[in-house]
Amino acid sequence: MSGRETRESSFIGLEGRTAIVTGASRGIGRAIAVRLAASGMDVFINYRSDGKKAAEAALEAKEAALAAGFGKTVVEIIKADVSVPSECESMVLDAAQKTGRIDALVNNAGSVKDSLILRMDAEDFDSVLKNDLGSAFYMTKAVVPFMLKARSGSIVNISSVAGVRGNAGQANYSSAKAGMLGLTLTAAKELGSRSIRVNAVAPGFIETDMTQGLAEARKQQALEAISLRRFGDPREVAELVCFLVSDSASYITGQVIGIDGGLTI
Ligand code: NAP
Repeated sequence: MSGRETRESSFIGLEGRTAIVTGASRGIGRAIAVRLAASGMDVFINYRSDGKKAAEAALEAKEAALAAGFGKTVVEIIKADVSVPSECESMVLDAAQKTGRIDALVNNAGSVKDSLILRMDAEDFDSVLKNDLGSAFYMTKAVVPFMLKARSGSIVNISSVAGVRGNAGQANYSSAKAGMLGLTLTAAKELGSRSIRVNAVAPGFIETDMTQGLAEARKQQALEAISLRRFGDPREVAELVCFLVSDSASYITGQVIGIDGGLTI
């Protein structure tokens, strides 16, 4: 990461609160979980398949919390496939039982199955919609009763530049990510009167497993289109999400915030 290397929290209202981050065993989700724990939040790290990686993420988050002086921070891993509504409900109940509250949800889990429309199976379209958009709805529906009761909460949906602008080869993914924006705006309207804020972030190219598989020529092409001439670091996305979760963003709701190094200028 170029630029700021030290990321001490200056955001308010995070200590002692609870967050669930979906798909947090690696990549952007992991960076978000670590950042929230380092701000004193109890964090539930959701994963689907790789328990070892999730445990590593939890250890990193716990160490970050300790280093920041939050020795009592709870960091736990929860296995659940967020494309299955009943698994979302169980995960949220489990987390709420352990800490007694759910203050924040970060809908980060996502996956791709890219191909051009002519070659894309209906099955691959439907499964990405369910995995990347359905999951955000199922999780939102599951946490909202706890947030309504508390009359506060913050939900952050990890969308994508592809959801704002479309992307050739990603009809399923960009539709899901655009759908997340509709979900964000609607939830912000429905829940605002109970002080529940709902926002989306739209990352551009961020260095994770998801972008590692890109062909070299595609990477070069992307770099030329990015004003800052580099891919983003997951920690840079985590910083924005941490801000949106916190009370420092107390008057921000229903917004889509780009984090793309100037790709969409
Ligand atoms: P990544 O490295 O591929 O990690 C995705 C994570 O989501 C993995 O931990 C994966 O777990 C989890 N996941 C996927 N489906 C799941 C499910 N049904 N239930 C539970 N967990 C699930 O991706 P990333 O790059 O960090 O991306 C994170 C989010 O940011 C995604 O929503 C992605 O669309 C979005 N985004 C990324 C970029 C980028 O450039 N990297 C840009 C824009 C937006 P498993 O390993 O178990 O599948």
